[in-house]
Parts: sequence; C-alpha cells; structure tokens
Amino acid sequence: MKASFFDILKSIAANPQIVLARPGVNTFLVRYMQKFTPQKVGGKVVLHSHLPPLNSIAYKRFVDEHLLQQNHKPSHAQIGITNVCKQNCAYCYNKGRSGTPMDTTTIIETGKKLIDMGVFWLGFTGGEPLMNPDLVRITKNLGDRCSLKCFSTGMDLTPKLAAELRDAGLFYFSISLDHYQEKVHDTIRGYRGAYRAALQAIEILKKLENVHVSVSAVFNRSMFENQDLIRFIRFIENLDIHELWLSESKPATASLCRDESIITPEQRQSMVQFQDQYNKKARMTLNYLNHFEGKESFGCNAGHKMVYVDAYGETSPCVFIPMTFGNVKTQPVEQIVSTMQACFPSEDCCFINKNYRTLAELDQALPLGPQQSIDVLKRIPFGPYGSFFKAFYGKAKARQ
Ligand code: SF4
Repeated sequence: MKASFFDILKSIAANPQIVLARPGVNTFLVRYMQKFTPQKVGGKVVLHSHLPPLNSIAYKRFVDEHLLQQNHKPSHAQIGITNVCKQNCAYCYNKGRSGTPMDTTTIIETGKKLIDMGVFWLGFTGGEPLMNPDLVRITKNLGDRCSLKCFSTGMDLTPKLAAELRDAGLFYFSISLDHYQEKVHDTIRGYRGAYRAALQAIEILKKLENVHVSVSAVFNRSMFENQDLIRFIRFIENLDIHELWLSESKPATASLCRDESIITPEQRQSMVQFQDQYNKKARMTLNYLNHFEGKESFGCNAGHKMVYVDAYGETSPCVFIPMTFGNVKTQPVEQIVSTMQACFPSEDCCFINKNYRTLAELDQALPLGPQQSIDVLKRIPFGPYGSFFKAFYGKAKARQ
C-alpha cells in the first residue's frame, strides 16, 4: 500500500533533530526521497529495502549516529549465515571462499559488535540462510536496533518458519529469481526446481502480514541488451510484491572477469533513468543497486560504510570484492574494519566494476589475503565521493 502524505510527514517529523545535520545532507535526502513512492507495510513506512523503514529505531540511529554524530564507522553489513546451499549459481560471489564455518555464537557476537559500531542495516546471506537451524535465534538477537534483511533462494521456507522469523524481528524478505522462464532460472541456479521453490516462497510471504516482500535478481548484460530485463520486470510486477531489487552480475570471481559481461557506464546510467521514471508511478518499487550506489546517490561504500563477513568469518569490503582483511574468529572485527576503512575511502562508482582487471592481472588466487589486498590497494586510485558523501563530509576527509 502506498504510504499517505501524512504517514511520510509523521515519519520525517519523528526525527526533528535531522535539521541539525549539514544543510547539504538534508537537501540531498529530500531530493533522494522524491525519487521513490514510499509504501506502508504493517505500519512501517518504507522507501526501499536497502534503508530501514523511515519510522523505525534503525532509521533514528542513522540520523543520530551517522548524520549528527558523524560516525565514520559502517552503516551496512552482510553476514554469511551458513556456507551451505543446494543451488549452484553461475555468478555466486562466494566461489573460491573456504574454511571452517562460524558457529552461532560467533555470528551473533559479530553482528552485535557491528551494530555497536554503527550498523543499522544488516543483510543475512550465505549460502542459503534458511539452512542454518539457528536463524530464528540469530534474528532475535540482532533485530532490536537494526533493520534486518534476509536474502534467500526460498527453498525450504514454510509458513511456520516465515512467521517465526517475522516474530523474531525479520522484516525484509528477499527471494532470488533471475528470469521469467523456469528453464533459464533453473539453469542459472544449477538446480532443477529452483524457480518453483522461489515462486512458492513468494506466495507464502505474501500471505504473511507485516513483512516486506521483494525479489532479488541478478541480470547479465545480454538481458539488458535484448530487452529481456524489461520483460522480467513486467513479470515480477504481476507477482504483486513490494519491490524488485536488481543488480547486474559483478566480476566477483576470476571466472566472471570478462569485459563483455560487465555493464557499461552508459548502460548503468540508462538503468538509473529507467528506475527514476518507473518509480514515479508503479505500485512496485524498483531498487537497482547501482542506483543506490551510483554517483548521483550514495556512491560505492565498500569497506567504508559496507562490510561483508562471509560464512567462514573472513571480512571483506562488500560481497562482490574478493579481498579479505582478516577473520573474526581470530581477530576483533573492530580491528579488521578499521584496517579496511583505512584502505577504502568512499567513491562515486562501483569499486569492483572499475578495478576487476587489476585484480585479475595479479594472477593470484582470489580472495586476496590481507597483505596482498593492502599492497594492491596502494596502486589503485579512488575517485571523488558520490553526492551524499560530498554533502556528508564537506571538506573533511573520509580517511581517518
Ligand atoms: S564494490 Fe561498491 S558499488 Fe560495487 S557492489 Fe560492492 S559496495 Fe556496491
């Protein structure tokens, strides 16, 4: 349901202290919000699923800790809840990652520490998060001050589990679906039945009250070029869900580092414009990752405001960057994040889309270890900030 003008006003007025943020930040936020049609889901006012609901505690933390106190620590994180998954996606960003999986205590402790540092949006990923039998317990422990999103294939989701997760504090559910044709989706996912499992999970979630339901999809460049992406968006619209989250396939592993499959800056720009037009009138929100992370918006915050802890505890700047700066099982996560932040200022375009050739040319096993990562980063120049961070930092430097 579309949020009313009064709902939006009430949500914004709940944080009057926001006027104390830098004027440029408020100007940016007003313009940014106007690009979306906020929805009301179970009393929560949602711009899109990469931000907490506007009337939530997590959003208040964004205002207080990040905008006002100028917290330079991360705001967004993803944690690999398990390494287990029945599917075998062609573009899986975890290929090449290995080790001993974190236990539940480590996952919860790491999540809590990240939240204490400033994280107000936490994504559960994997592997398939639903395959961790402790997912409800993990959710219960992490959801009070932080907005939680679960990225799932939908396999093995039951109405009972969905309700337990919602009651434990999970609000954003995202089911992977990459194509409107069953055969193509199953082939991409390396699993016969993946498409049906995803549609079944979506139906379960649609019947559940007070949860935000989205599809997350990875598209490749040919889908963009042959208009299949438009057909796919129309197909998802008919599922009658809240949001379609979209990302192009990223060169996150050696086998994906092919120039011809990386989206061009012009194609990205065209997707950004398409989203802005689309979201003015559609009932479903289109949420293209490279819109949020584009130069017009927040830019790339890998390793700066974004952290990825994989299922083995290895800590990276984002899910798509094959570098690790340490393992939370043997080193405090605060220390690892601090090292990573010293190497990663924010910039205005996707780090991995821009630098994958440099990593591929090293001819070393990926992900790179901490010292290898630090060494190669000395050779990689970073660009200017995206619009938000230009306003946020003003003349101050992002690197601390
Ligand atoms: S490198 Fe930056 S822009 Fe690219 S996916 Fe990671 S966080 Fe997003």
